[in-house]
Amino acid sequence: MPLRLYNTFSKHEEDFKPLKPGVVTMYTCGPTVYGRPHIGNYSSFLMADLLRRWLEVGHGYKVKHVKNITDVGHLIADRDDGEDKVEKQAKQEKTDPLAIAKRYTQQYLEDEKALNIREPEARPRATEYIPEMLAIINTLLEKGNAYETPDGFYFSVETFEPYGKLSGNTLDKLDAGARIKVDEAKRHPADFALWKKCVGTNGHHLLRWSFQTGQRTETEGEDPASGFPGWHIECSAMSAKILGEEIDLHTGGEDNIFPHHECEIAQSDCAFGLKEPFARFWLHKRRIDLAGEKMSKSLGNVLSVPAVVEKGYSPLDLRYYLLSVHYRTNLKFSWEGLGQARDSRRSILEWMKKGGVGAYAPVVKPGAKLPSVSVNDIQEFDDEFSVAMDTDLNVSGALAVIHNCMRKMNASITPDEPTKIALQKFIQKIRDTFGCFESEIAEAIPSAVRALVDARAAARAKKDFQESDRLRDAIKKLGYEVRDEMKEQKIKKL
Ligand SMILES: [Zn+2]
Repeated sequence: MPLRLYNTFSKHEEDFKPLKPGVVTMYTCGPTVYGRPHIGNYSSFLMADLLRRWLEVGHGYKVKHVKNITDVGHLIADRDDGEDKVEKQAKQEKTDPLAIAKRYTQQYLEDEKALNIREPEARPRATEYIPEMLAIINTLLEKGNAYETPDGFYFSVETFEPYGKLSGNTLDKLDAGARIKVDEAKRHPADFALWKKCVGTNGHHLLRWSFQTGQRTETEGEDPASGFPGWHIECSAMSAKILGEEIDLHTGGEDNIFPHHECEIAQSDCAFGLKEPFARFWLHKRRIDLAGEKMSKSLGNVLSVPAVVEKGYSPLDLRYYLLSVHYRTNLKFSWEGLGQARDSRRSILEWMKKGGVGAYAPVVKPGAKLPSVSVNDIQEFDDEFSVAMDTDLNVSGALAVIHNCMRKMNASITPDEPTKIALQKFIQKIRDTFGCFESEIAEAIPSAVRALVDARAAARAKKDFQESDRLRDAIKKLGYEVRDEMKEQKIKKL
């Protein structure tokens, strides 16, 4: 079955086929590094990670994934006026914008690692691609799609007929509801900034480049057009430079649909002379609500990864929770929901640790005969899992298949070797797809200690506390301390 994905551009599910056979080019709009990203941001990055993994695991594609870091040019409220988010934060923290970008980039990368998000092929920073952005702006000026005003260079939306096709914000609608404060110098209220000059509100902008040379400049007046790029042009430039002018997939949060992605399409298609959107598929993650409100930094109701970990959850519990709700459904965050996700993830993990066989003693009446499981049965589960994932990443469907398989294995006699091998293959596929089932302690702990810990878990399950204490001492002799927390054993090197 082909992979079917809901394309925000066409507004329906389509068969996914890459432009070049075997290789998928994918761009994800990364964070603006003016604060630690919140879990709503990560839910969008997790969707991209899941998609990338499924393209690899389920279809054998080589995925070239690019995920940018916005360290300049993203203005407050995603608009063309107001302050740059990174510069504003720098002022608040009394430091310079590069230090702010560095600090929050580091926190972002820590969180991504903790959430087991795979490393993309590239993580370009906007400040490193200024000449590429200027090249596109110059092309747009030459082609008549852009013009200069006293405070910058703007894209003329009226020169791009399909403007509004992605978001539904077509020009007639934007005209009718023009609430935007009109900049007199703009030809149309919806025209957006490609480049902002360091004048007016942005007169003191610290990060600035010469419009002529693309070089960093610190002196005012040297080049009257010196300034910094608009947020949208950054992604068009980085995507084209690293992945090519036309790509397969573009992902982001639903907040990115308008204006960000609408504007990316307009400027890339015009600059590169394309008849179709430069990215063929557009996938958007729905938002997360916290206490009935959209989780957003500007509303102040955000949760960070460390805040969740502090409450005793593993980052992988959070990963599982955020992925378990379909990406086109709003997730209403609750601690209860996270707790249920943790229990569900850990039950799957336990089952996997035992090779998928006999995680629980089957409840059977004495003398009742247990059914057997065959290779074909496992293949069926495997196929159903793939069908669910191929149906626009139907994660809840895929999880239901896993739980069905667990139930069946737990109520069957120990399978033969070929069935065990098929089961191992299926389990590996689930692990690689979800990335939620790496045991946090498995790699770092020597196998001898691991074996004692497992034996201790079995002793505790039987309420044999004498044996449990004996094993605790044996583990200690090997240089590890074991503590019992939230029904789980935590191991620490002494
Ligand atoms: Zn972007």
